[in-house]
Amino acid sequence: MVAPVAPARIEAAVYRVPADPPVRTAFGTMRDRPAVVVRVEDADGAHGWGEIFCNWPPPGAEHRARLVAEVLAPLVVGRAFGHPAEIGAELERRTRILVLQCDEPGPFAQAIAGIDGAAWDLAARKAGLPLAAALGGAPRPVPVYASGINPDRPEAMARARIADGYRAFKLKVGFGRERDLANLAAMRAEIGGTARLMADANQAWSAEEAAAMADAMAPFALTWLEEPLAADTPLDAWRSLAARVPMPLAAGENMRSRREFAAAIASGAFGVIQPDAIKWGGVTGCLAVGRDAVAAGRTYCPHFLSGGIGLMASAHLLATVGGGGMLEVDANVNALRTLLADPFPVIHDGAFVLGEAPGIGVEPDLAALERWRVPL
Ligand SMILES: [Mg+2]
Repeated sequence: MVAPVAPARIEAAVYRVPADPPVRTAFGTMRDRPAVVVRVEDADGAHGWGEIFCNWPPPGAEHRARLVAEVLAPLVVGRAFGHPAEIGAELERRTRILVLQCDEPGPFAQAIAGIDGAAWDLAARKAGLPLAAALGGAPRPVPVYASGINPDRPEAMARARIADGYRAFKLKVGFGRERDLANLAAMRAEIGGTARLMADANQAWSAEEAAAMADAMAPFALTWLEEPLAADTPLDAWRSLAARVPMPLAAGENMRSRREFAAAIASGAFGVIQPDAIKWGGVTGCLAVGRDAVAAGRTYCPHFLSGGIGLMASAHLLATVGGGGMLEVDANVNALRTLLADPFPVIHDGAFVLGEAPGIGVEPDLAALERWRVPL
């Protein structure tokens, strides 16, 4: 149950805040935290917010914002759409050949995902409904886990997030066998035997390395092992690995089509499916993939490591899809998480409490954000 939308303006802004300390993954280090924020304004003056993935490459945020302003917005502004999902579908259709010609499927998919999210937020606000209700669900509590935990003294970060109410934690691995195992031991000791612990290798290993590491990690009782292999590894190899390791595998943040997700879900290789709503598909695509995953007996856990707007859209997606998954929440300090999502949800019993406010339920604090805005 959503309202029609008629975008009169679509604008994108870039923000960057320092990352102190930097955020480290197996493939690179984030020295600042960027966000591309999309604002869609309806012909009747209502508005909606979206966000576009831009963590990598480091200079990519400005490019994605310009794609919105110069390429995508002119294709749909001034037109009326009966349903918010029609906007992303129209943008995909109208840019299909251009995407092939410039060979940029990722940046276009990410920019369209952000516009789709803003269109959904707008439609839900116009209907006076929380996004989860507009999607057919309800704004129930959403279990969260603390993510992006660096390999440098991870137990200290875990301790701080326990104090904030987190009950599940995901460590970055892929920094060498001894260090990874020592870090997992320190994490398990810190969080106790019953808290959920996951590991994210960010595509660091060969199949042999992954199998050996997974065996070595068995004593830590991981809820899942994420992206042990490169994301473009054939599904047969993923399936072979899944059959010989003691924990479920997780992936999805680097998948980019309904067909690719369908094949991954059907393969049986992944216990956990992790689409990122600002990286591919938007709210429309991730709702469908999440439902497909749960219907097939997998767990849907939205991937997210960006600002507060996309985080809230992901929370409403998980509240709608359900199925026992957890929402990824960045454990690192990032002013763009809280300043873009005011009021930021409180954590109760290890879960975000979502309110009844319309749309994603938050507004960016534009005055406080202004010092971090990058001129385009
Ligand atoms: Mg990951």
